[in-house]
Amino acid sequence: MRILIVDDEPAMHDSYRRCFAPKDTSSADALSGMAAELFGDDAPTAPCDDDGETVQFDAVHCLQGLDAVAEVEAAIAQGSPFAVAFIDVRMPPGIDGKETATRIRALDPNINLVIVTGFSDFSPIEISRAAGPADKIFYIAKPFEIAEVVQTASALGHRWRADRDLAAAMAKLHEQSAELAANESKALHLATHDSLTEAPNRLAFVKALTDKVRGGGMFACAMVDLDRFKLVNDTLGHLAGDELIRAICGILQANVPEGAIVARLGGDEFGVLFDTAGEQAAVMACDRMVASCATSFRILGHSVHGAASVGVVVISGEDDRDPVDVMRRADLALNDAKKSGRGVVRAFDESMDESVRFRRRIEGGLGQAISNGELSLAYQPIVTGDAMEVVGFEALLRWRTEEFGPISPALFIPIAEESNLIHELGDWVLDEALKVLPEWPGQYVSVNFSPRQFRRQNFVGYVMERVQRAGIAPSRVQIEITETAIFDNAERAAETLYKLRQMGFRIALDDFGTGYSSLYNIRKFALDCLKIDKSFIDGMGRERESAAIVQSIVHLGKALGLGVVAEGVETEGQVQALRVAGASHLQGYYFSRPVPAADAKVMADQRFIGGEDDLDGDEFAIHAGNGTDG
Ligand code: C2E
Ligand code: CA
Ligand code: CA
Repeated sequence: MRILIVDDEPAMHDSYRRCFAPKDTSSADALSGMAAELFGDDAPTAPCDDDGETVQFDAVHCLQGLDAVAEVEAAIAQGSPFAVAFIDVRMPPGIDGKETATRIRALDPNINLVIVTGFSDFSPIEISRAAGPADKIFYIAKPFEIAEVVQTASALGHRWRADRDLAAAMAKLHEQSAELAANESKALHLATHDSLTEAPNRLAFVKALTDKVRGGGMFACAMVDLDRFKLVNDTLGHLAGDELIRAICGILQANVPEGAIVARLGGDEFGVLFDTAGEQAAVMACDRMVASCATSFRILGHSVHGAASVGVVVISGEDDRDPVDVMRRADLALNDAKKSGRGVVRAFDESMDESVRFRRRIEGGLGQAISNGELSLAYQPIVTGDAMEVVGFEALLRWRTEEFGPISPALFIPIAEESNLIHELGDWVLDEALKVLPEWPGQYVSVNFSPRQFRRQNFVGYVMERVQRAGIAPSRVQIEITETAIFDNAERAAETLYKLRQMGFRIALDDFGTGYSSLYNIRKFALDCLKIDKSFIDGMGRERESAAIVQSIVHLGKALGLGVVAEGVETEGQVQALRVAGASHLQGYYFSRPVPAADAKVMADQRFIGGEDDLDGDEFAIHAGNGTDG
């Protein structure tokens, strides 16, 4: 480690030399001998650094401040700077210690300065001010002791080295993180850009679309697809295809509205996102894109005529703002454009949506269902838990069309529920059920009412009127409603139910357990029974939880004086478990599937059924959930 000593008195240099003599054993011994001679018991031991490693000093001696400054400059130039400089404060006639320290500091910000002072010299503060920073300036008063100098030198030397290592490490880290950042942005660029066109790729497009969707403003999402691109690829080769893609990408970028994002989504498909004032403006912007692509290109020596089709969807505040759905709709519009020929722009409209179209068809068909005689009711027996006596039948609506075959009510009831059709259907169901009822010896019919039906004006009067007209005792009619129907407006529902029950109707709470009602909540409603949802019965054999839920529904139902009907009973095991749990009534394929009125009459007359295990056969060609492939 290099140290610098500057003092105008040659004798002082001798003292320093004794401190910093090179440490081969003999000279160290000599030093300690000499030191012992000079300083008695205060003789310094060989300087060690913290880990016990001996510090070797390489000292440079100067008699004048200017020489010292020159040494520092040279040392820095050589790349072997000093760790510590011992500077005498008074060095007439040259520059004094303060000035020397100031100039050295100016050259070397890292050097530790030890100011060696007499009593009447500058105050430490004055020197720090001139040659700071304070944590790199130290003081030793003359006359000093060798031990003091050596310890100061080795401590500072050690610190200097540590500082320098740290600085080097920091510099390295800095360099690495800069490199890392560069790599990262390179990786990010690669991940979000298309290598052929350098345009944003699908990932970047989806990200931008997601931001737009969240932004809440009106914007357009356009899908651009090249016409007859495959032909170019097949006849002129992939290189030509690539060339055409690049050219079209450039043209699009130059011809989209300001601020638009043009991304290559893959193959010959591009996505364009831009803010717009409305559908008309968006279509005009797309027309411009199509027009700009309709030009002749020179591709690898061939003349190629470009052409593109565009599908666009404009998303405004009220629209469904799901990015996947936005792209799906733009794709549907593009499909439509493609079907219509080349160079066509199409804006999305709902009729392009297969699922919407299917819904429309269902809706349309349902409107005609009654007059076309496509509806019927199927009846599923409800039996007592102990003797399996048939006490009632649930009426379940069936719809069979020429076009679709049998369609599941789980699919068409919600569609009817969203329009007013549900009322027409509901009227038909109730009348039909009441027509069949007199044929049965004494059973009740259980009719499902959707929330919308239940909430209609004067529901009580409506039901009563139809039942009276059919000449049926209300006690033979059970009204099945769901939790949704009553909890939307609990007060009103409670009143309606109360009146119905006063008139003698039976009331069942359907699909119990799937909604948000607790048994505590249902106390205020006038009910006859709870129908435990099929999902719990399904789970009984498998999960302890379902069995526990069934158990507690049965118990609490009993405590409230309610019957409990277990729905969807399919196996002997479930029957046993439900009997143990104490369910008052059972319903399910185990006893009978929903059957036509004539078959129901047979069961009604027999009054008892043994279990049947025939669970094969699918009732519906079209169920809820697979409607789109109809
Ligand atoms: P829901 O009221 O819960 O009717 C019970 C459903 O479970 C019926 O389906 C029935 O066929 C089926 N099911 C009965 N036992 C079993 C069994 O052991 N295993 C299995 N896997 N299923 C069983 P469906 O007939 O398809 O009716 C579906 C839903 O459509 C009904 O559920 C009801 O919410 C609604 N629905 C049916 N008819 C009408 C109606 O006339 N009016 C109203 N508003 N809704 C109706
Ligand atoms: Ca039901
Ligand atoms: Ca049910």
